[in-house]
Amino acid sequence: MTTSSPAPRPPADPGGWLARFHAQHLPDYSPASTRLWWAIALSGALALGIALDAFLGWPAERQMQVVGALALVVTAALLSLQLPRTSFSFSIADAFNFTLLVMYGPAAAVLGAGAEGLVGTMRTSRRLSSRVASPAAAMASWSLAGAAHAGLAALLVVSNLPPAVAEVLALLLASLVTYVGTTLPLMAMMTLKRQQWPAPRSWLNGTAWVGGVYIGSALLAAMAWLLARQHGAGLMALLGVAVLGVLALVRVTLAHQEAEHARQEQCIDEARREAELNQQRFSAAFTHAAVGMAIADAQGRLLRVNQALATLVQAPEGTLPGRTMLDLLHPADHAVFERKTLEMKAHARNDFALELRCRTPTGGDTWVMMHCGRFADPGGEGNALIYQLHDVSARRAAEARLQHIAYHDNLTGLANRARFHEQLEGAVERSLVDPQVYFAVMFLDLDRFKIVNDSLGHEAGNLMLREVARRLQSCVRPSDLVARLGGDEFAVMLLGLQDSADGLRLARRMLAELMQPMPVCGTELVPGASLGITFSDLGYRTVDELLRDADVAMYEAKAGGRGRVAIFDRTMHERIAYRLALEADLRRALAEQQLSLVYQPLYEIEGGRLTGFEALARWHHPVRGAVSPAEFIALAEESGHIETLTTWLIGQAVAQMAQWHRLAPHLAQASMHLNLSGRDLVRSDIVDTVRDALQRHGLPPARLTLEITETVLMERLDLALETVRRLRELGVRLSIDDFGTGYSSLSYLGTLPIDSLKIDRSFVMRMEQQPESIEIVRAVVTLGHALGKRVIAEGVETAAQLEQLRQLGADEAQGYLLSRPVTAAEVPRLLYAPALA
Ligand code: C2E
Ligand code: CA
Ligand code: CA
Repeated sequence: MTTSSPAPRPPADPGGWLARFHAQHLPDYSPASTRLWWAIALSGALALGIALDAFLGWPAERQMQVVGALALVVTAALLSLQLPRTSFSFSIADAFNFTLLVMYGPAAAVLGAGAEGLVGTMRTSRRLSSRVASPAAAMASWSLAGAAHAGLAALLVVSNLPPAVAEVLALLLASLVTYVGTTLPLMAMMTLKRQQWPAPRSWLNGTAWVGGVYIGSALLAAMAWLLARQHGAGLMALLGVAVLGVLALVRVTLAHQEAEHARQEQCIDEARREAELNQQRFSAAFTHAAVGMAIADAQGRLLRVNQALATLVQAPEGTLPGRTMLDLLHPADHAVFERKTLEMKAHARNDFALELRCRTPTGGDTWVMMHCGRFADPGGEGNALIYQLHDVSARRAAEARLQHIAYHDNLTGLANRARFHEQLEGAVERSLVDPQVYFAVMFLDLDRFKIVNDSLGHEAGNLMLREVARRLQSCVRPSDLVARLGGDEFAVMLLGLQDSADGLRLARRMLAELMQPMPVCGTELVPGASLGITFSDLGYRTVDELLRDADVAMYEAKAGGRGRVAIFDRTMHERIAYRLALEADLRRALAEQQLSLVYQPLYEIEGGRLTGFEALARWHHPVRGAVSPAEFIALAEESGHIETLTTWLIGQAVAQMAQWHRLAPHLAQASMHLNLSGRDLVRSDIVDTVRDALQRHGLPPARLTLEITETVLMERLDLALETVRRLRELGVRLSIDDFGTGYSSLSYLGTLPIDSLKIDRSFVMRMEQQPESIEIVRAVVTLGHALGKRVIAEGVETAAQLEQLRQLGADEAQGYLLSRPVTAAEVPRLLYAPALA
């Protein structure tokens, strides 16, 4: 069993069916408009009733004709023409109605108007209220129009007007009545519905065209009627059908046109939508592009910028429009930017590209690649510009780094050879144009770099180079250029010099700077340098000439003793040429054994016993004759031949001494003195070389004494000390040569593993003239003895000197007085010095 709730009962209906009807069909009608609606509906019904009554009273044939005519009216109403793209529609039905009026009287016209009104309103409205009101208003007004037409026609005929004219005038009156009757009540009803009072003017404005249509229709009907009078109603009916055919054709054509138009509209719509989409896409691309973009007008004022550009110039996006591109650029780039822009306009080019800097609000700058393009501004007059700015600062920085690397020495940060060359080229060119331009070029070569590098290692060498660079840089002005050309070679270009004395002063200051000791790897080192300088007033035409002469001067400074300045002069070339040739000859001499040794004996002053020989190198040059050892030893040191030379000398001297030991027993106690040069001491294999020679020839180590010049030893004490110790361990004896000429080294003397001191011969030779030399010799002897070392005097040329030395207590003597250096063949004869015997 199921239960169901009781069906809702319809609410009590206070007003009955009328109220329900109102509620259902006229809910939006005001009371006044409702009343008017009813009045229209009822008068329409009345007109319809009267018309039907008349119709029914007609003979069948007439009824058939009217029904046929009504069919034409309905067809005409259905074929109404909507004027394209207006709210007006036009129908020939009214013309048919007026024809009905003249031919069959008001009843037929009322029926025609009702049918036409119904067809029309059925197409335009779904509401019953409209579907009733429109045909009703039409029928009522046509009913009135019919009466007016009949009355006026009768009146006019009676007043003797020709019937055709009377008919036309009557039709015109009827058209006015139908116009007013069909439009005014409906308009009034609609106005009242909106709670407004109908205004005649707005009615006239809104419906005048309808009046025109009615008048036109009436005139058409009049013409049709006149035709019918002459040619019969049949032709007229035929015409009516033909008109409808034409109308149907026009409608089809219009429909086609309309469809075509709609299609075009759709195409336009689609194109517009596409354009909008494109615009949006472009906008999105513009906004989100990673490249900075801006659109500017022909005057360069920014119209639109994107976020990337705002980021690039570090300005809020909103602040940029209205400014010019120039505002965003570095002042130094304004000129080139403006020139490029003008060029583009002047030569009708479409774009240009260049790299320049953007200015940021903080004063920094960003390198950008700018592309500027021109295009016809669709919105404005003339051309617009589009800028694209690509951040290239990273690439620029890399280039700058590469540039720096290409032009700088990465150890010291100084300019390198390439840059020095380039700058110097500029200076030479300027001086050729303007003789007032005066400059100097210096070449510097460190005196002790190779020793430091070889013995303490590259790290120490690098430290020294950096410190030298720093010191040199501190001596010059910002306009000067200090460069490292490679190795331990430096060059300085001095610009804006007053005179050569100026340059010379600076050169001296630089050398003084480099004579200050510098801490390197736990010890103190003095880099020292030789400096060559040349001045631009010698009329240089090329950089190479300048560099060559500065180099020659530097070479000369080195040869003249280290730590010097040499100013280039033309004779230097000859000296250099000589030295270069000699250097080549020395290489050959070593290979061809042009070198030999001579031996100068040393004697004990007390007793005159032979104690040893000093081996002295000799070079007999096939063309130049004897070359002084002081000269060729220095040459060998500079040119790197000293190692070969020393190795040869050691082998030679040791072999010779060993031979004498074997052949001449009286020489068995003598020892061989051999000179070592500064470079030898820092050779890593010098100890091995000495040991090898001793072992190969079977000479006891104690029979070999190595002489080391005091200055050399003291300058390189740190470096030489290790070698000296290891040599001493070998059992070899060591002697300090030229003692007294080096700078204060007395504090070291006690700790050095030295066997003897050799007083420099300059003191010995001056003893007779300068009493203070005697004092020096006395001091050396006292000191040597106090330290337990033997004291040797060299360069003894006179008996007085010998006597003096004896009194001072020197142990041994050597000199021309006792014996000149002699060849090996002469040696075995020597046992006692004649002067001592
Ligand atoms: P040194 O080691 O001081 O050698 C002594 C120099 O004084 C020698 O000159 C010798 O001939 C000279 N001499 C000796 N007695 C007298 C004298 O009574 N009066 C004068 N006026 N001179 C005297 P030399 O042979 O021309 O050597 C010059 C320098 O060349 C040497 O000075 C030495 O430093 C260097 N030397 C010579 N041979 C060698 C060598 O084999 N190896 C190295 N490394 N250097 C050498
Ligand atoms: Ca010597
Ligand atoms: Ca000496």
